[in-house]
Amino acid sequence: VSSTLMTEEKILVSVEVCLKPSSTARISEVQEAVERMLEKRSLSYADGPVPIPTDETFLLENVQRICICDTDEWVENHEILLFWQVKPSVHVYQLSEEGPGEETSGDGQLSSFNEWILPAKEFDGMWESLIYEPGLKQRLLRYAASALLFTEKGVDPFLVTWNRIILLHGPPGTGKTSLCKALAQKLSIRFSSRYPQCQLVEVNAHSLFSKWFSESGKLVAKLFQKIQEMVEEENNLVFVLIDEVESLAAARKAALSGSEPSDSIRVVNALLTQMDKLKSSPNAIILTTSNITAAIDVAFVDRADIKAYVGPPTVQARYEILRSCLQELIRTGILTEDHLFLPTYSSLREKLNVPDTKDPNTPLHLPKQLLEAAEVCEGLSGRTLRKLPFLAHAALSNPYSCDTSKFMDTLIRTARREISEL
Ligand code: ADP
Repeated sequence: VSSTLMTEEKILVSVEVCLKPSSTARISEVQEAVERMLEKRSLSYADGPVPIPTDETFLLENVQRICICDTDEWVENHEILLFWQVKPSVHVYQLSEEGPGEETSGDGQLSSFNEWILPAKEFDGMWESLIYEPGLKQRLLRYAASALLFTEKGVDPFLVTWNRIILLHGPPGTGKTSLCKALAQKLSIRFSSRYPQCQLVEVNAHSLFSKWFSESGKLVAKLFQKIQEMVEEENNLVFVLIDEVESLAAARKAALSGSEPSDSIRVVNALLTQMDKLKSSPNAIILTTSNITAAIDVAFVDRADIKAYVGPPTVQARYEILRSCLQELIRTGILTEDHLFLPTYSSLREKLNVPDTKDPNTPLHLPKQLLEAAEVCEGLSGRTLRKLPFLAHAALSNPYSCDTSKFMDTLIRTARREISEL
């Protein structure tokens, strides 16, 4: 190995270590044990689970799983990461099983905000299940990580400006809300040593303008008072997710034109004022979503640092979403297939480009059907795609014994029907 390679800057790779719910081990102890284990392991690095060696009794006792993350960028470029190129950054966490705390408005039914302690069990695996064009998720993660680092290092905001507002916009069902939650979960894991406590508060902007809006002003005040208390504790990292922010602008417009009681304008203004206040808290990140893709004329949205458009899934994303659905149906035994070979989109493309694909070891009939389904599904949202296998299953003549190829035919037919109903 040449010396230049040895001195080359190492690539930072995150290794996430999820503790068992029952574990009472010290985080630092587990972290050291994992670092030692990785040092011994001179393998290549790629995203996915790392098996715990059988002689690591301490880890086996306390750790549920170890996962390598963020290497796809390198692997995408067909580079292989070898252990000496990598500097693993180990993050140990335990999932909160508490579930959401809810706050309801006056009538006791309509929930206007939810609160979770992060990392939460509900959001486990969400980040991985969301599939977008390469780079989108990494860009969001890096952006938020830089914002938190600038804050931590005390960069003077008068000299370098940045803020902690993220806006995801795009058509409904493209996973924006889920992506916000998954991002908050990821950051809570990655920043757990700086912020040992982390919460997510979800406000549905739309629900604030229901017919109980007269209560909403009070609710907003109460909510933000609570959030202020949370951010005052400097070891707390607080995410505030405001869904469907376009309804704020709509409510304001309606109030001005007289079609909605002027109380609602007070609610909007209260919310905006509170958000402005929150912006000065270094340990608060505001995540917003909007289903309107054109310009959104809400005052604070202009100040969002990162505005990411989240569009309908590309053919590659559709293929990967459906592939993960099929794998789940196989895992659970709904589809009875023993050794189903379902390559990733890029490796299937490569295989199809090779003239002789009659290799009996890699039967491509099912992957090709999957590709056809992905192509047929153009225009469907991620949400509809994830429902499609269920609808297809319900349309089968014999749902209890189900041949995968027949299932794929039904899936394609179901997709065509969904498209025709758009
Ligand atoms: P939005 O907020 O954009 O309306 P949601 O976050 O409510 O969308 O998405 C609903 C569900 O649709 C998600 O929980 C997820 O299961 C699925 N989904 C949407 N987009 C994708 C995607 N790109 N990849 C994987 N699943 C997706």
